[in-house]
Parts: sequence; structure tokens; C-alpha cells
Amino acid sequence: MESLNSLNPFEMAQKNFDLAADALNLEPNLREMMRYPERCLVVHIPIRMDDGKIKRFEGYRVQFNTARGPAKGGIRYHPNVTLDEVKALACWMTWKCAIVNLPYGGGKGGVACNPKVLSMNEIEHITRRYTSGILPIIGPQSDIPAPDVYTNPQIMAWIMDTYSMTKGYPVHGVVTGKPLGLGGSLGRDEATGRGVFYTIESIYDSLGLQLKDQRIVVQGFGNAGSVAAKLLHQSENKVIAVSDSSGAIHNSKGLDISRLIEHKAKTGSVLEFEGTERIQPDEMLTLECDILIPAALENAITKENAPRIKARMIAEAANGPVTPEADKILFEKGIYLIPDILCNAGGVTVSYFEWVQNEQHLFWDEQDIYGKLEKVMKNAAKEVNRIHRNRKVNTRIAATMLGVSRVAEATRLRGLYP
Ligand code: NAD
Repeated sequence: MESLNSLNPFEMAQKNFDLAADALNLEPNLREMMRYPERCLVVHIPIRMDDGKIKRFEGYRVQFNTARGPAKGGIRYHPNVTLDEVKALACWMTWKCAIVNLPYGGGKGGVACNPKVLSMNEIEHITRRYTSGILPIIGPQSDIPAPDVYTNPQIMAWIMDTYSMTKGYPVHGVVTGKPLGLGGSLGRDEATGRGVFYTIESIYDSLGLQLKDQRIVVQGFGNAGSVAAKLLHQSENKVIAVSDSSGAIHNSKGLDISRLIEHKAKTGSVLEFEGTERIQPDEMLTLECDILIPAALENAITKENAPRIKARMIAEAANGPVTPEADKILFEKGIYLIPDILCNAGGVTVSYFEWVQNEQHLFWDEQDIYGKLEKVMKNAAKEVNRIHRNRKVNTRIAATMLGVSRVAEATRLRGLYP
């Protein structure tokens, strides 16, 4: 049988859609309409490098589905970006936005480049030329990009500026994840980690468990991982081990997360934090604990280490941290998995809040944003858990079923044009 890992990313996303569509008994006509991207744009990006030579890059923007609203999804700058990867990510964004019930479709963009070897000036030129290339299809009512791997608020500011200059007036709502001084939203920095925390709280509640005195392990002490760790620590749980790209640390009595955040800011890594011992990163993943939060990269949990995982729950803060083979093993072991398309949807939810504030020319305060985020995440988590329980499917399929069913409903209601 064909192994899932031998498929390209887009075929994998389609396969996942098929599983959810089968479980939903989705009619063939709708499958035909929902299984493919609506629009894929490939753009040529020639720029003058700092040494005076012209170099050409390639960029992509994919609108996978806009049945529920404008396309929404980040832009990735990475040497391995391909059109198939962007199509797959745009497909996941479609289900993710629908799971948290945002009035958005799904999209994604990318430029195949290595920002680590480019100057700020070169990155700015790539961004502006890429933006002018995708200009015919983006806009606050049609397709709203945001940051993703190796893109940041400054890059979003350049996209907003380039788009606005061609229109002749400022258009804040064309991108989200902007700096605060340019219509960005309060709470965006904490959004993903907070969303992770709220989904865990909600699932604990649904399972009749108390989220207190739990032992937590966090792989990847970056933006998403450190915020989730901080909130879990503040609510009287013990974060017993964390890691970043430099290594892993452990203390079975629990770490003081606020002080660890300061330590990492000062030294650049989590290593040598007082009162901790250094352990092997793979050993950390297989520690006895209640909740394991992979918050670093894809494919952290594979068929090799999955059999040794002792956590009771895995909350996927990262995108795609568990391979399809590992997924099966974890499911058979009875580990409760909170899938990425639910668990890390706090980021896109606060992006949506940013867009709403921009469109209304209003600013909300942080408490307002956190309150709204909590409601959105907890409702989505409850709904996914309900499908998981009632339909007896694993939580990843349950989450995809929720997203796919909402997109299917909108597609059915809109009918077929012309
Ligand atoms: P980040 O760069 O702030 O943090 C990533 C952390 O992972 C860093 O501390 C890095 O040192 C660490 N890391 C890298 N390789 C590692 C390894 N092999 N072992 C252990 N740690 C390692 O990135 P982030 O924004 O927190 O994103 C993390 C994950 O969450 C990504 O998969 C991202 O796609 C996903 N995500 C983030 C957001 C967001 O809003 N930040 C939203 C949705 C999904």
C-alpha cells in the first residue's frame, strides 16, 4: 500500500480531506468542488541584489477555497517552498478557519528564498515585487495574507505599503500581523500560545479532568511554546521540561517559567537555567508527563519515538509535528491528541480580530481580545470533542470533519455558478 509519507504535501492534504469526506458521507458533487484549489498564482520576482546583479525568485499565492469568506493565510519565505506545499497549507487553512468559525476561506503564499542569506534591503525588494505580483488577487475583501515561517510584522508593513501606494490610499485590512503602530492588534504575540492553553482547558473540562498539578513538557520554547508554558504554570501546573534548538532542560519539581523567559531573552537559549539538568531532546519527548506540547517544527513525533511516548495528552501547538504513521501509534496507545488545525488556531483568530478592528477603524483592549479568543477556542474544542465522541473517529479526523462540513454547508447554500 502507498505510504502516506511518499505522497507530496498536497496529495496528503487531499487524502485527509477524503477521510473526513467519507466520514461525513459527503456527496460526490461537493467533493468535486472542494477537493482542489480555486486559484493558484505563480509570480516571477526579479530583484537587484546588493552587489548590483539581478536575481530571480519565484513566489506563489494560492486561494484554496473562498466559499465562507475571503482567503486567509500566511506567507512563508523558505528555500524549500513549492507550489504543492503552498496548496497543501492553503487547504489546511480552509479547514482551520472553518473550525474556529471565522468568516474566512483559506489561502497561503510563499517565496522560495533563503532569508538567512539575504540583506534587509533585498528582503524588502523581494516583498514589494512579490506583493505587486499578487496584487490582482489580494485585498481586504478577497485575500488577506499574514506572517508565517521567516516573515514578520515588518514584512507585513511593506506589503501594506506597497498595496496602499498602488491604490492611492492606506488600506490597513489587506494584511494582518502588522506592527502595532500600523494597525496591528494587541494580543497578537500571545494569541497562539493562549489559544493552545484555552483548548487544553476546554478539553480537560470536557473530559471531566482538572487542569491543576499536571506535568507538562514543551518542545520548542519560542513564541507559541513559551506563552502556553507560562499560562499553564500560572494556573498551578508544573512545566517539568522544555527545549529549544540548543537543547533540553529538566527539573521534575517544575520550572519557574517567567524567570526562564527572562533567562532565554538574556542568553539566547534555555540551557544552563538554574536548578535544571540537561537531557537529550529525544529523551525529553518520552518523559513521563500529562501533557506534551510540540511547539517547534514538523515531524517531531515519528514512528520511531511514538511507541515510547508516555504523555496522556498531546497538544499540537506546531503545525504538523506528528507524522501520519506516528498518529496511528498514538491513537492506538489511547493518547488524547489536540490536532494542530484546532490547537494553534488562536493565531488566525486574533488575525481576524485585527482585520475586524481595521475595517471598523476601532481598537480593542487586550482583555477584550483575550475574552473573545477564549470563547472562540473553547467553543471549537468542545465541538471537535463532541464529534470525536459521537462519531467514534480520532480527533484529527473529527477536527477536519468540522471544518469540511462548514465549508460544505456554505458551498451547498451558494450553489454552482453560473
Ligand atoms: P518560534 O521561532 O518563535 O519558536 C520555535 C522554537 O522552536 C524556537 O525556540 C526554536 O529554538 C525551537 N526549535 C527549533 N528546532 C527545534 C528542535 N529541533 N527541538 C526543539 N526546539 C526547537 O516559532 P513559533 O511562532 O512559536 O512557531 C512554532 C510552531 O508553531 C511552528 O510550527 C508554527 O508553524 C506554529 N504556529 C505558530 C503560530 C504563531 O502565531 N506563532 C501560529 C500557528 C502555528
